[in-house]
Amino acid sequence: MAQRPTGVKTSEASASPARFRSKHLLAIGDLNRFEAEQLLDRAETFEPLLEQKVKKLDTLRGRTLINLFFENSTRTQSSFELAGKRMGADVVNMSVKSSSVAKGETLIDTAATLNAMRPDLLVVRHGSSGAAALLARKVDCAVINAGDGKHEHPTQALLDAFTIRQRLGKIEGLNIAICGDVLHSRVARSNVALLNILGANVRLVGPPTLMPTGAERWGATVHHDMRAGIKDADVVMMLRVQRERMDGGFFPSAREFFWFYGLDEDKLKFAKPGALVMHPGPMNRGVEIDSIVADDPKISLIETQVRMGVAVRMAVLEALAEPGSNQETR
Ligand code: ASP
Repeated sequence: MAQRPTGVKTSEASASPARFRSKHLLAIGDLNRFEAEQLLDRAETFEPLLEQKVKKLDTLRGRTLINLFFENSTRTQSSFELAGKRMGADVVNMSVKSSSVAKGETLIDTAATLNAMRPDLLVVRHGSSGAAALLARKVDCAVINAGDGKHEHPTQALLDAFTIRQRLGKIEGLNIAICGDVLHSRVARSNVALLNILGANVRLVGPPTLMPTGAERWGATVHHDMRAGIKDADVVMMLRVQRERMDGGFFPSAREFFWFYGLDEDKLKFAKPGALVMHPGPMNRGVEIDSIVADDPKISLIETQVRMGVAVRMAVLEALAEPGSNQETR
């Protein structure tokens, strides 16, 4: 097959479901460039459907999707629920309060119980890195990681890439700055991996205390000065400050964090004129982002990200539910 430029919007592959080699989607590393682009192309065909009065397909009719959330989530859980329903699947939501003791045992027990119910797709969010991979080894169905601790959140990265591509027509060659609490962010890890596959120039921006050791080896340049880090950026992606994952003083105060790293109009002037702003949500307004920037419809893609999330997840569910699709190119 002819190679096409990376990250460029195209509809040539969109008429058919995306195909994955991997049975599961646990991390961006499960995808190659072709698979990722096929998926974005497919999401592009689902997107107009979401604006129609009748939004339902019957592609996954008779299939069962279980949403298993050990951590609170509003947008990701409802996004997967809507995506499943719009593809015609039966969707069951399970929110499990995970105990801090014997997490592994709880998870394996839950996996066995769920497996007995013979779901076709299992979407899992858990506070521990590696939880989705552990579950995938214990069940027969396809598992989608909807966020595991600080590790990965692959569908967030896919929806972010889709949002950028829909708005700017390409990803290849764009300067994309990912800023804030990189240390605790699964969104940052998945985004760096995917944006690299798609040919973007990625920068990570944040204080040394919130930058993981070795982040420069992820395929991004590392900056501790916000203005230098977002200079000439096409897209500035802000991360939520993850207080629930902090067990010490990572920065002196929210006010000081905002002063140095909060995205406001002044700092945004250093990015390219017309640069776009993203945030995976939920936002801490006045900590990592100023409301004036977050709510400006000319530059903020934050609501668009939520809409695009449904289309991308529809494409992911379809790809993983397609019988045998993931074995073909293995
Ligand atoms: N919603 C995203 C996640 O679950 C981002 C965040 O919570 O900061 O990782």
